[in-house]
Amino acid sequence: MQKNTFYKLIIIVLMISLLAAGCGKNQAEELPEYKGSDFLMDTLVQMKVYAYNGDKIIDESLARIRELENLMSVTLEESEIYQINQHAGKGVQVSQDTLRVLNKALEYAELTKGSFDPSIGPLVELWGIGSGEERVPTNEEILKAKNLVDYRKVMISPDQKVRLAQPKMRLDLGAIAKGYAADEVSKIFAEHNINSAFVNLGGNVLVFGNKPDGSDWKVGIQDPRENRGNVMAAVSVSDKTIVTSGNYERYFEKDGVIYHHIIDPATGRPARTGLLSVSIISDSSFDADALSTSVFIMGLEAGKKLVNKLDGVEALFITDDLEVDITSGLKDKFELMSEDFVLIKDEN
Ligand code: AMP
Ligand code: MG
Repeated sequence: MQKNTFYKLIIIVLMISLLAAGCGKNQAEELPEYKGSDFLMDTLVQMKVYAYNGDKIIDESLARIRELENLMSVTLEESEIYQINQHAGKGVQVSQDTLRVLNKALEYAELTKGSFDPSIGPLVELWGIGSGEERVPTNEEILKAKNLVDYRKVMISPDQKVRLAQPKMRLDLGAIAKGYAADEVSKIFAEHNINSAFVNLGGNVLVFGNKPDGSDWKVGIQDPRENRGNVMAAVSVSDKTIVTSGNYERYFEKDGVIYHHIIDPATGRPARTGLLSVSIISDSSFDADALSTSVFIMGLEAGKKLVNKLDGVEALFITDDLEVDITSGLKDKFELMSEDFVLIKDEN
């Protein structure tokens, strides 16, 4: 081959590869954006998917969340959790999904020595927070309901039957089921080989891959004092979940006191540990959901100790005094957006 022809060939090959690279980039940028939302699991579910079949992926994901709600809702009469509660004292056969969620909940109950407790149902019912029938119960009522809360009395037999040891015990998987659902949606994203999507189940956010332009997702942290959608900070992440538990999610106010939905089984009352919210950042939404509720109840000191013991888990705490405490792994990913809050540096 002549020298000239050789150079020409190289130039053509180079041009083709540049063109191909350009096309690939454009294609990725031009992937259609599909949005979907529905009210499921007692919360607004919002999704965004970048893919040609994004609408189908959203339908499949919402159907999966609905399926899980139908298994684990405390209010739907056909759900497995409703059946377990109605037949407390007797064994009820459950699906793999319910079993997985219940087992994980019991794992966190052990880990937190009962601060997290999936048998919290009698106390949740008593306070009625979010039910429209909220009220401050008497001490006697609280004591009675508190005595029914004990995760060690939730029995699981090898043939997948769940039995509550006492008749008036009640399961409530509200602190963990959304996290499981988010991870199940993430599995659907992966099965469809997409690169960019997110799902938000009322503060339980999972970002899949990067944004379509290849940059990190910026996930807003809710200002606990404001209406939903008002953010006070942002965390930049890809392929992660950010799950927040806060006193603003569901609450009622009586005589100037806020009574919220996260109950400390030790007192039988809404947990008061000086925190307005806790956000957990990790790979598993299932674990992050259980952890955010657990850590909210445990408080800043004990909660931070627990988070620091766990691999790949970061946390963001907002205290009653509007101080923001973040674990070391978040330092370069965190951006404070409101001057009302003060960032405290983590020493660990
Ligand atoms: P989350 O928003 O994930 O923190 O979950 C709060 C929900 O979990 C409440 O609405 C209750 O249904 C349930 N819950 C409240 N207190 C507890 C607790 N101590 N352990 C487990 N679940 C709880
Ligand atoms: Mg939770």
